[in-house]
This record gives sequence, structure tokens and C-alpha cells, in this order.
Amino acid sequence: MTDKNRTQDSDREKRKIKSVKKMKEIMTNYYIEAKTAEQTGKKVAWITSGGPVEPLIAMDVIPVYPENHGAMIGASKMGVDLCEKAEMMGYSRDLCSYAMADIACAPIDGGPIGGLPRPDMLVCCNNICGTVMKWYEVQARYFKVPLFILDTPFCHTGFSKEVKTYVARQLEEYIEFLEENCGRKFDYDRLREVGRLSLEGQRMWQAVLDTTLHKPSPMSAFDAFIHLALIVTLRGTPVTVDYYKLLLDEMKQRVKSGISAVPNEQYRLLWDNIPVWFRTRWLSEKFAAHNACLVADTYTSAWSGMMQYIDEDNFLDSFAEVYTRIYLNIGVDEMAGSVLNMIEKYDADGVVLHSNRSCKPYSLGQYDIQKIIQEKAGVPTLMIEADMVDERNFSESQVETRIDAFMEVVASR
Ligand code: SF4
Repeated sequence: MTDKNRTQDSDREKRKIKSVKKMKEIMTNYYIEAKTAEQTGKKVAWITSGGPVEPLIAMDVIPVYPENHGAMIGASKMGVDLCEKAEMMGYSRDLCSYAMADIACAPIDGGPIGGLPRPDMLVCCNNICGTVMKWYEVQARYFKVPLFILDTPFCHTGFSKEVKTYVARQLEEYIEFLEENCGRKFDYDRLREVGRLSLEGQRMWQAVLDTTLHKPSPMSAFDAFIHLALIVTLRGTPVTVDYYKLLLDEMKQRVKSGISAVPNEQYRLLWDNIPVWFRTRWLSEKFAAHNACLVADTYTSAWSGMMQYIDEDNFLDSFAEVYTRIYLNIGVDEMAGSVLNMIEKYDADGVVLHSNRSCKPYSLGQYDIQKIIQEKAGVPTLMIEADMVDERNFSESQVETRIDAFMEVVASR
């Protein structure tokens, strides 16, 4: 090993976020608990990433997220094999690669953790897309388990009283569905406590994300992609609140000690869309080589964006709005508005948009959003075409050329 390599290694080690070890431990225990649920008499529910998880936690049902599993498949570079298996099962390559990989995993217990824990029930909320409805119907038939679908109308320009009533009624049916499948009455007192912890977890998560306001930033969006796991999977539990307190302390300490995510941060960028899971390290190093840190993103902040609609005194009542007005269920103008706010808040020099072949609802309006950003914020934007899981849709040379050209524009300003 050369001296240069040794220096690089020790620099990388210094910048590593230490809390990640604790997070891995929590996630391992969580999956063990879910995989052994049958022996311990607990129930498991698969739920979509934007679905109301708090009632499950209040009923001691273990929530499992096939999309989180999809992210693990992507990061472990198992996506192509599983997507091809799904194609052999008759599914089109044009479908979402999370859905494809998950459907292919089920019959073979495939993927990095030997398949997901078997579900006792499925909970699907279409506030993120329509794909999840068909995906969950397929899995409900395969596992022969009941499926609850929460239909949240798309909010083109706002949120009406009628929509609130429509979703609130379904939430009552959701509680009945849980009572029926758990064989006991719903505990509303417990839900109040879970709601409080959910809100606290979201506040802590936002506080962690906001440490990137500091220049240079102690963490990057690539770190946020990893640390997001708990606010998605264990929202509403004390372990999540405690973990983000630990992470927040570490970030504050890094700021104090002058430890930044990128060694010579000169440019601050935003990321839009789901990460390219199989290339996060490559992308992170690529931007860092240009002294650019991705300081915020629209993806990880979505799990704290719903806080604004929570009524602390009546958590269940505010659910309808909380779970309907999420980032992927609002019109392009509102989405662009929140990106513009982030550009201002995090003092970003540019925006990187991942046109994600898999996720149509996230990607369809991106060209309009790009235009609005350029007109209103006047910062450069970059569109890269890729996929979150399926590596067949990624061209390293093309992405590299685009990043280099984009960074030249950012630097010239
Ligand atoms: S299409 Fe997008 S929102 Fe829907 S499941 Fe796939 S990644 Fe998630």
C-alpha cells in the first residue's frame, strides 16, 4: 500500500459516521424479530412506504416494507438477476424494479436476507403510486392473506373537505381490518403514545437532516439514504427516537470538530428522486471529486414533510391529511415549490435530478420541475437517467460525462 492510499484510507475512516453500526444492529434485530414472529405469536404486515404504520405499531403488528427490501436488493447488486426472474414469470421490464424484485423473491426466498418474513396481512396505500395496488394484489394472492387498500385521491391543487371525509372513513375501516385480523380491540390510548413517538421521530430526523445547513456539511444525502431506514420502518417506536438523538449528537460533534462529509466542500447540491442504490458510493465519490456535497434531497425529507399536517392532540383525526398530502401525491407546482424552498434553505448551487426509469410518479413531472427551478431559482440542473435497482438502465460513461459537464457549469458560476 502506498503512502497516498494509506492517507486516503485514514481520511475515509475519519469521515465515517460511527452511529451506522448501531443502526445496523437495530435493523438486524428488527428483521430477526419479524422472521421469528410465528414462534413468538406476533403478526407481520407488509405495508407500502407511504402507508399509515402507526396503527400497526399500536396493535403490536410488525411492519415490513417490501420497498426497503427493494433498496437492499439494489444496494447488494442483486437487482438484475431478480428483475430477469420476474420477466421470466411474465412481468414487463417496464414495471417498477422494486415490485419486480420483490415478486421474484417471494417463491424462492431470494435477495440479501433470504426473502422477507411471511406476511399475515398486507396494507397498501396508493399515495405513492398505482403500481403498489397491483403489486400487493399479486402478493395477497400468492401468500393467501387479506389485503387492505387505502385509497388517497391525488391532490392536484389542494386538499378538500370531501377528500378528508373519504380518507377518514377508510381509516376507520383500516382499524376494523386490524381488529378482525388481530382478534382483539384496537387500543386508542396506545395509538396516542405511538403517534407522539412518530412525531418525535420525525422531528429528530428533520433535525439530523438540517445539520447539513452548516458549511461544510457534516453529512451528505448519500448518508441520509442509509440512515433513513428507521424513520421508514420503525416510525412510532422509542428505538427510532433514541437512534436519531444519537445520530444528531454525532453530527453536532462533527460540526464542532470540523469533520465534513466531503473533504473540500465548495459546492452544495440537491438530489431529487430515489437513489441509484447500486451506485451510491460511486456517485458520492464522483461528486466529492468535484468538491461537491449533496446536502439535501426530496426523497429522505419526505418522511418528515408530513409533520406539518399532524395534529398532536388528535393524531388519528389528522391522519387523513397527513397520509394524503405526501410528496408523491401532490401536483407538479407544489413539488417544484418545495424544491425551490430547499434550494433557498440549504443554499444549493445546483440540482441533480435522477430520472428514474422505474418510478414513474417521481419522474414524470421532473422536466417541468427542472424548467421551474431554472426560471425561478436560476441554478444549474442536471438530469441523469438511471434506475434505483436495475443496473441494465445505467450507463456509467454517459452519467460520468454529464456530471463532469454539469460541474463545469456549477464551477464557472
Ligand atoms: S413506482 Fe415508485 S413509488 Fe411506486 S413502488 Fe415503485 S418506486 Fe415506489
